[in-house]
Amino acid sequence: MKAAMFQGANKPLLIDDVEIDRPRDHEVLVRVKACGVCHSDLHYVKGLVPMKIPTLLGHEAAGVVEEVGNLVSNVKPGDHVIALSVIYCGQCDQCVSGNPSSCVNRESTRRRDDEKPRTTWRGQKVTPVSDGGAFAEKMLGHENSFVKIPDDMPYDRAALIGCAVTTGAGSVLNHAQVKPGTSVAVFGCGGIGLSAIQGARIAGALQIIAVDTFESKLAMARRLGATHTVDASSSDAVKEIQKITGGKGVDYSFEAVGLKKTGEQCIQSLGVRGMATLIGMVPAGQKLEIEPGWIIGGARFVTGCVLGSNRFRIDAPRYVEYYRQGRLNLDEMVTRHCRLDEIDDAFKLMDGGDLVRSVVMFD
Ligand SMILES: [Zn+2]
Ligand SMILES: [Zn+2]
Repeated sequence: MKAAMFQGANKPLLIDDVEIDRPRDHEVLVRVKACGVCHSDLHYVKGLVPMKIPTLLGHEAAGVVEEVGNLVSNVKPGDHVIALSVIYCGQCDQCVSGNPSSCVNRESTRRRDDEKPRTTWRGQKVTPVSDGGAFAEKMLGHENSFVKIPDDMPYDRAALIGCAVTTGAGSVLNHAQVKPGTSVAVFGCGGIGLSAIQGARIAGALQIIAVDTFESKLAMARRLGATHTVDASSSDAVKEIQKITGGKGVDYSFEAVGLKKTGEQCIQSLGVRGMATLIGMVPAGQKLEIEPGWIIGGARFVTGCVLGSNRFRIDAPRYVEYYRQGRLNLDEMVTRHCRLDEIDDAFKLMDGGDLVRSVVMFD
């Protein structure tokens, strides 16, 4: 099968033939139909996160099950599925406590080093990022990675649920558990930020303040549920948020950019007893500077979460249903389609900032 591999920071992805094994035991082989190009992939491509060479990239996918191992019970060949971008074991303390996104035994879902690798390139093992590797015609993973969706759900829309929606809306609905009537600020209006804005709308937040530096993204944020927007390229986001909230600061804030400055602003925009949730991927080595006294004095909460503290088997079908009811707008979020061999252009456009989501389509 053809797959795109990371071959070094700031280099084009290498698209080449990769051998993929057949599924064993709890494994599922999926023919990928669509895979979103996520900001984390861009971080990897730019070398902001250490990464093995080569690594299979792509982790926001939807497709159709081709073959299953003999112990698989949750999907069967022909099922349409969404792939979750971080696997969970289902057995560890965190998993059985209802926190599979904090699973501490992901290793148990993978093949051991003494087993044949799931994917090989020129005879050597090639690992997929986040157990995905979906910039590829097929992916092979543990059954916990996949959730069945209705056949009429479009693949490109479904793919976004695998990462952007799960991360953004999940951080609002599952992690922070935003309450009706409250105020919310979201820093960054890419796929994850826009999903957080939609999550806040679904949760019934009264004020939803979108912060970005691109007018086109702020316009999209307004269409998807933001009640106020702040253009951070021409104003101080914290001061603007103070103004909008009558000097109180927000009840909840979310950082979906992954920068020191916006991380600090996210915390500084909180009102008393407010909660800041960091979800953007900050490059390794960067630190946030915040006055502890300000956090202590206002009894503020600073927290973070991976993939929206998801319970994927429960959440993914809910997001599909919200979409079908017209309450989760995925149609506008997919702004561009491309082929696998056009993936480098998708990264360049994303790096330029003024685009929400490219989705790589197969077939
Ligand atoms: Zn992602
Ligand atoms: Zn676990």
